[in-house]
Amino acid sequence: METEYIIAGNWKMFKTPAESVDFVKELHGKVTTLGPADSVEILVFPSFTSLLSVKGISNRVKTGAQNLHFEEKGAFTGEISPLMLGNLVDYVLIGHSERREIFKETDDDINKKIKTALNHRFIPVLCIGESLAEREAGKTFSKIEDQLNRDLEGLSPGEIEKVVFAYEPIWAIGTGKNAAPRQAQEVHAYIREILEKKMSPGKSAETARVLYGGSVKPQNSYEILSQNDINGVLVGGASLKIDDFFAIIQDSYKLADR
Ligand code: PEP
Repeated sequence: METEYIIAGNWKMFKTPAESVDFVKELHGKVTTLGPADSVEILVFPSFTSLLSVKGISNRVKTGAQNLHFEEKGAFTGEISPLMLGNLVDYVLIGHSERREIFKETDDDINKKIKTALNHRFIPVLCIGESLAEREAGKTFSKIEDQLNRDLEGLSPGEIEKVVFAYEPIWAIGTGKNAAPRQAQEVHAYIREILEKKMSPGKSAETARVLYGGSVKPQNSYEILSQNDINGVLVGGASLKIDDFFAIIQDSYKLADR
């Protein structure tokens, strides 16, 4: 059975291995005071160099990598291969807007990365979302549709059903300006509409897991998580502070247990 919520923390280029270990230990202690492990999946994306150190610390806090290269080996200085991630992680973040914008990753790269991740049995968390200019020009839905079409090209329905999606409007990432919960809900419902056409016949898009990301914090997490089509959150800044991240997790437990 899939969990009701996924609460994921993207640590970006923060936290040393020692800091990551301390955080996961402390979070484990706090999380074990909450309800059963099957209602909420907790996930953190530490730096590559922290992955080995945090492995095995907690059976309640899973880990993911922030990126991977689509090739298994080769002359790609500074990149990380799926073989190097080996059995260190369950999830891989793919297509984060910082990778797309700063490191110029294209939809074609992202499409290859998703295929590589699935071939190596990682669960891809695919990030999509519009810029402020696209939203203001009324292009939010066409951007989302275009990204989904390009990023999922050539994947079978069964493969698409394994992917976790994160709707992250670029204008809401790290800006303190979250999408209004109803605004996010509207896009999530649209993502499901698109996905339903790509999934196996008869399979409902309600089973797809679609997270929201963009300035999620304890002050807005309950309302965001209350939306019908939001299955969890991908948290950047607030996931670095244990009290804030735990408060968001607590909200998900409150809603899961209703
Ligand atoms: C992110 O990095 O995916 C993110 C959503 O960041 P923040 O929560 O800081 O906006």
